[in-house]
Amino acid sequence: MEGMATNCLFCKIAAGAIPAKRVFEDEQSLAFADIKPQAPVHLLVIPKEHLQSHAHAITEHTALVGHLMAVAGELARSEGLKNGYRLVVNTGEDGGQTVGHLHVHLLGGRPMGWPPG
Ligand code: 5GP
Ligand code: ZN
Repeated sequence: MEGMATNCLFCKIAAGAIPAKRVFEDEQSLAFADIKPQAPVHLLVIPKEHLQSHAHAITEHTALVGHLMAVAGELARSEGLKNGYRLVVNTGEDGGQTVGHLHVHLLGGRPMGWPPG
């Protein structure tokens, strides 16, 4: 698959090589349930193209990054998160990123604390 990094977990999920509970898909993006949910609703929205992190998203990816945010918003609506929700993009070591493929967490269904850990 073009744009796929070998040995990337989320590229493998995007390619269907590793199963996931897929909730939305279009040409550029995929959303699936987080395997270890931190809230009643916890989805991950990823680009199908491999991009290591938000820090690797440059101007040419502006439309793609915007698309991921828009998809997350549509999913929040379809999941019925009328009371609000949180989008999180952990980036790099200090950001707590554990999977090296850009992903937007959509968390909702409970009140979120601040500041984050
Ligand atoms: P990060 O810590 O990089 O921001 O988020 C990675 C997320 O991916 C974590 O919330 C983790 O639970 C989730 N995750 C890790 N491995 C898998 C997997 O194999 N399948 C799914 N669906 N989620 C995963
Ligand atoms: Zn990847």
